[in-house]
Amino acid sequence: MKKSTCLFSILIALLIFSACSSHPHETLEQRSEKISKAEMQSITELLGNDLYEGRAPGTRGGDLTEIYMKSLFKFMDLQPGVNGSYFQTFVMKGFTNSGVTLTANGTELNYIDDIVGTFTVEEESIDLNGEAVFVGFGITTDIWEWDDYKNVDVKDKIVITRVNDPGMYNADIFEGSILTYFGRWTYHIEEAARRGAAGILLIHTDQTAGYDWNVVKNSWTGEELYIDSDLQNNLKFRGWIKESSLRKMLNANNISLDELYESTTSADFQPFDLGFAINIAGKNSYRDVTNRNVIAEIPGKTKERIVLSAHIDHLGMDPLKEGDNIYNGAIDNGTAVGAMMLVAKLLKEFQDELYYSITILACNAEESGLLGSKYFVQNTDRSNIIANINFESTPVWDKSKSLMGIGARFTGFEEMIKDLAQKNNLEYSSFSLSNQGLFYRSDQFSFARYGIPAVWISAGEDEISGAKNYTEFWGKDYHTVRDEFNPEWELEGMKQTVKYALLLIDQINKTKSPPEWKSNLPFPMEE
Ligand SMILES: [Zn+2]
Repeated sequence: MKKSTCLFSILIALLIFSACSSHPHETLEQRSEKISKAEMQSITELLGNDLYEGRAPGTRGGDLTEIYMKSLFKFMDLQPGVNGSYFQTFVMKGFTNSGVTLTANGTELNYIDDIVGTFTVEEESIDLNGEAVFVGFGITTDIWEWDDYKNVDVKDKIVITRVNDPGMYNADIFEGSILTYFGRWTYHIEEAARRGAAGILLIHTDQTAGYDWNVVKNSWTGEELYIDSDLQNNLKFRGWIKESSLRKMLNANNISLDELYESTTSADFQPFDLGFAINIAGKNSYRDVTNRNVIAEIPGKTKERIVLSAHIDHLGMDPLKEGDNIYNGAIDNGTAVGAMMLVAKLLKEFQDELYYSITILACNAEESGLLGSKYFVQNTDRSNIIANINFESTPVWDKSKSLMGIGARFTGFEEMIKDLAQKNNLEYSSFSLSNQGLFYRSDQFSFARYGIPAVWISAGEDEISGAKNYTEFWGKDYHTVRDEFNPEWELEGMKQTVKYALLLIDQINKTKSPPEWKSNLPFPMEE
C-alpha cells in the first residue's frame, strides 16, 4: 500500500470510529446488545475475589469495596451523589452478647440450643425482667382490620409472637399463602417496639420460618448491626425461641401452646397473659461500626430522578468455620452490582437522551436488614425520587424465557414490564420464591415503604434450555461459601437484566410517566 493511501484509510477508519463511539446511528437497545461477556464478568470477578473477604460492612474487605466503587464512579466520569462526595457515611451500632440465660418460673432455657437473640441497648450487663404475654401473630393493620394487641398494654413486657401471618393458615385472609410484610419477623419486631415492649421472642419452627434453626442460629449469634432509627424504642432484647423449647416452658406452667395457637387465626384473638415473668440476662458489648453508601449521579434534564440500587456488602468471613470460610457473595450481590454499573455506563453514554436524572446507589449493610438503603431514603430529598429500580442476585446463566419484576404488582411497573416482555417475545413471570416475601427482603423495600414506587428487575427463572439454575441457586448456594465467581457462566441472564432495565428506564424517560401505586398494599408505609 502506498503511504498516502494508507494515511487516507487510517483517516477514514478514524472517522468511522468516531462516528460509532458517540451513538448517532445506534439506539440504547442496540448498544445494550453489544455488552461483552468480559464487561459482565469484571466487577463480579473482583467483588467475589477472596481478597475482598466477603465484604462485610466495617471490615477491610468492606472498606475496599467502598473505595473500589468510588474509583469506578470516577473512572466512568459520574458526578458525586452526596453534596460533592461519593460517600454517604453512616454509623451503625454493633451488639455482641455472651453468657445469655433465659429463665421463666423455674424453667431454664439454654442460649443457642433453645433461644438466640441480641440485647439492643448500650449496657454491658443486662438483667431484663418482664411479664410474658403471648400476642398471637402480633399484627396490627387497618388493611385487613386486624389487631392482635387489642388494647392490651405490653409496655415493659416480653411479648412472644408467632411469625408469618394468619393467611398461611387460612387462604381467605391476608394474601393467603403469599407472605405479606406483616408476616416478616422484622415487622413483628417493629410492632412490638411501637408498643413499648421490653423484649420479643419470635417462635421458630422450620416450617414457619422457612429455614431451620441452624440458619437462625448462624445469623443471630455474631454481631448484630442497627441504625439509630431502629433503636429509638424500649426494646432491650430481640430474639428467637425454638417452638419445642417454648412448649417445654409452657407445659411446666400447665399451658398448652396448641390451645394458644387455636384462636390466633381469628380477628377476635385476645393477647394472653402467661401469668409468669421471663428473665433474660447476660453480658453485652457494643461498638460503633462506620460504613458508607457510595453514590453517583448522572444529571438529566430535570432534577426529578430514578434511583438505581444494588447492595455491595455480603456476609464476610466466619473465623470458626473449617475449610473455606469466606462468603464471597459473587451472585449476592456481585452480579447485581455488575448489572447496575453496566446500566449506569450505558445511561452515561446516552446522557443527552435522559429526561430524568439518575442516582446510582451502591448501598451497604443490606445483609444486616436493608440498613444502607433505609439510611439513604431517610436522609435524602425523597420528594424528587420518582422510582427505584433495584438489582439483587442477578442471574448469570443461559438466556431466560421470561422477565420478572419483583414487587411490580404493587405499581404501574407491572404494566410497563409486561409490555416490555410482550414486545420482546418474552413471558412475564413471577418469581417462585415471591411467596416467601422476597420483595421485603432487598433494598427496593426501603424505597417502597417510604412511598417510592420500586421494583427488583431480573431475567426469569426458566432458561430456554429448560434448566432452572437460578431457582437452584436460592435453594443450594445462596448465603453459603459456595456463592463464588465462575468463569464458565454464560451471563445471558445478566445481559437480559441489563437490557430490560435500560429499556424500562428509556420508556419512563420517553413517556415522562413514572409508575404509580396501586391500592391494597400488603405492607404499611412510613409517614
Ligand atoms: Zn442480596
